[in-house]
Amino acid sequence: MGALGASREDPSAIDALMRKIRWVGCLMAVVQFALYTPPSGHAMPFSRWWGALPLVLLAAVNVAGLVRVRRRLPADEGWVRFQLVWDSAVIVVVLLMFSFDDSSALWALLILPVLEAATRGSRRQTLTTFFALCIAYVVREGVVAAVYPYNNVTLDSVTYRLAVLGIVSFSVASLADRLTRQIMGTASARSEADQLRALAVATRLMSSLDVATVVREVTQATEQFGFSRVELRSDSGVLVDGLPRNGGVMINDRWFLQMLQATSRDGIAVLAGDEADLELADGEALVVARVSTRLTTEALLVGRHGLPVPTQHLEGFHLVAEQASSALDNAQRYEERRAFQNKLAHQATHDSLTGLPNRALLNDRAQTAIARSRRTGSLVSVMFIDLDRFKEINDVLGHSVGDALLISVASRLSELIRPEDTCARVGGDEFVVVCADHANDVSVLELAHRLRAALHAPFQVEGIVLDIEASIGIAWSPEHGDDVADLLRRADSAMYAAKSRKEGVVSYRAEDDQLAPMHLSMLGDLRRALEAPGQLQAWFQPIVVVSDHRLAGAEALLRWDHPTSGRMQPGDFIPMAEGTALIHQLTDHVLDLALESMTHWPVGSPQLRLSVNLSPRNLLDASLATRVEALLSRHGTDPRQVRFEITESAVLADPTRAVATMHRLTALGVGLSIDDFGTGFSSMSHLKNLPVDQIKIDRSFVTDMLRSSQDRVMVRSMIDLAHGLGMHVVAEGVEDADTLSDLETLGCDLAQGYHIGPPVDREAFHAFAAGPSLPAPRTERVTATPVVPGGAATDSVVERPLTSVTGTGE
Ligand code: C2E
Ligand code: CA
Ligand code: CA
Repeated sequence: MGALGASREDPSAIDALMRKIRWVGCLMAVVQFALYTPPSGHAMPFSRWWGALPLVLLAAVNVAGLVRVRRRLPADEGWVRFQLVWDSAVIVVVLLMFSFDDSSALWALLILPVLEAATRGSRRQTLTTFFALCIAYVVREGVVAAVYPYNNVTLDSVTYRLAVLGIVSFSVASLADRLTRQIMGTASARSEADQLRALAVATRLMSSLDVATVVREVTQATEQFGFSRVELRSDSGVLVDGLPRNGGVMINDRWFLQMLQATSRDGIAVLAGDEADLELADGEALVVARVSTRLTTEALLVGRHGLPVPTQHLEGFHLVAEQASSALDNAQRYEERRAFQNKLAHQATHDSLTGLPNRALLNDRAQTAIARSRRTGSLVSVMFIDLDRFKEINDVLGHSVGDALLISVASRLSELIRPEDTCARVGGDEFVVVCADHANDVSVLELAHRLRAALHAPFQVEGIVLDIEASIGIAWSPEHGDDVADLLRRADSAMYAAKSRKEGVVSYRAEDDQLAPMHLSMLGDLRRALEAPGQLQAWFQPIVVVSDHRLAGAEALLRWDHPTSGRMQPGDFIPMAEGTALIHQLTDHVLDLALESMTHWPVGSPQLRLSVNLSPRNLLDASLATRVEALLSRHGTDPRQVRFEITESAVLADPTRAVATMHRLTALGVGLSIDDFGTGFSSMSHLKNLPVDQIKIDRSFVTDMLRSSQDRVMVRSMIDLAHGLGMHVVAEGVEDADTLSDLETLGCDLAQGYHIGPPVDREAFHAFAAGPSLPAPRTERVTATPVVPGGAATDSVVERPLTSVTGTGE
């Protein structure tokens, strides 16, 4: 640190003081030269006009000082020295001019430059000035003795004057020195306080969870510590939205990596000259601090500071970088959570495949339309549209073609209706259109035929031309009811009529309600199946511990071997059973089968848990818990080995009753988990009030999480959320080894899916559970052939996994 800089940190204040003294000096010089009367008997040896000379010299240095202030030039050492020499010279000139008058006390002016040196310069400078002035004064006395002999210069008078000069200037100088130190101390304490305050303010503002604010505050806070051109940069791969990336001339990726290395040990590095590898001004250093965010790769805080950089400033810079780290982390977490919640909110009301409103939003919109039509007297139509032959297309051409077709259908339908109308997807290949403001039934029928004609035109999907037909059933208010549920049911049965009579478009008629023959006969078959041994079977899909692939249990999944239609999947008949009281018997039946099977699970596997699915309607059943208790005790099962899976929509249908049932179940000791989590929770706050200890992340997020970063973020958020609420997490739909290992990285507890094992029948599962351990997951991607539990015994009973399940409708 320079001597000047160290002892006199605020030269500008002394500069200003000196300027004032000089102006006063100018004023006094005017008076002195104008009014001066020489001692009697002597004449002035020069014209009074010569008095303007020192005046001009004093004024000139003052004006130059002012200009420098205006131009913001620093009061550097050279300038200070110049002023000192200048002032001394002017005083010596004045003394020389008045050499003829020895009685004048002007010699006392010599004190001024010594004081100036003492207050602004080092001790050495003060001494130099003092001795230079002494010499100048002795020379002056010599001139006096030679030119004005009448003045009788004596050694006595010279030493006396120099002694006075010395004593006064040194005592005042030391006083001034002490005073300046004190002032400096207060000033530096004040500036430290300012810095702390700025830091506190920055920290508070940085917690605003907004990246732009973090960047701005970082810059402002570091300016307090004397840094300039501060930049907060992340490398180009970083995911902090809004944080400036590398690029451009100044900071490239190579330099960024070097700096990460340089800061790896202390988190901060000071670079000067060539070291910095960036253009730096002379006497400037580059300070780089690492901003480590937990969620992303690295960022750097880079700033320039004049040399040398005080420790305190470095510490401040480092502190700001650390604050920025946590602020960025928080901002990003918040951003993720917000996106997650938006997505959940959207998912709660929209179909994920087509983006159309779902049944919940449809209900809501239809209700509003009906209420409005009551005032206007117009008609509101509800059209139930079902694609014929869709299942065939799906089975023959595959799900991706099926999905693409559904998306095209959705967009055609949406194009034909007005923005204020609603087109919703309510099932696999079922759509509902609700239109308000029809003047009469003719216009309703017209629209229905237009929709049907639009779907009749061929579709081009993945290079295949597809012809499909649609059956449309219509009901409208007020004629067919003014309740959404009634209208939907009636449009549905009109659709069945259209389908069975192959009529295309059919309006509701009361007699059609008796129809839906498929439904009726299937329900009859199902009722009989509950009595017939072997038709309904519980299959089991293994669930493993993610960290060590140990078997943790299994989910029971229903299968129906229909006497004439063959193997039926739950999606084919459970929704239908859910519409009737039959679902209660069905649930009891599955539980009975699964608990019975559990008694054959190998001894020594009491840690294995069985999961059984519950339907929404089961939750409204006050006697469910009693029957579960009876079944548990009949099979002698430890309730802690059983859990039920419930979807959130089941809870939301009638929260009070559902939660009451859930509490009754947990009172028995069984566990509860939220199935298909992420596909419809409208209120996260709801979750923490439910007596559940596990969530099951829906397979639509898991299956694609390695290909869709958005899905992965969702999975991570759900895991964090569940763990935050003290719950365990199961990821379902794990179809390959990479996903399983990524889930381990994310801290997921349990996993289920075709990669681990598909659902298998009870014998295959028994054999597998008795086995030593789960086959090690394959390392390559598995798309078609799953890792089969149980090995050889299972060939004939393993299901072919679906390659895609999205949007096939359950
Ligand atoms: P869920 O509870 O979500 O069951 C998981 C479904 O995902 C099963 O289909 C299973 O075969 C399938 N799955 C398993 N691993 C993978 C995978 O890696 N990738 C893909 N794409 N899918 C996988 P499943 O057996 O057809 O069951 C469909 C739905 O039917 C179940 O969905 C459940 O909601 C319902 N269900 C099944 N059995 C019962 C039951 O006994 N009672 C009730 N109420 N519902 C049941
Ligand atoms: Ca389930
Ligand atoms: Ca599920």
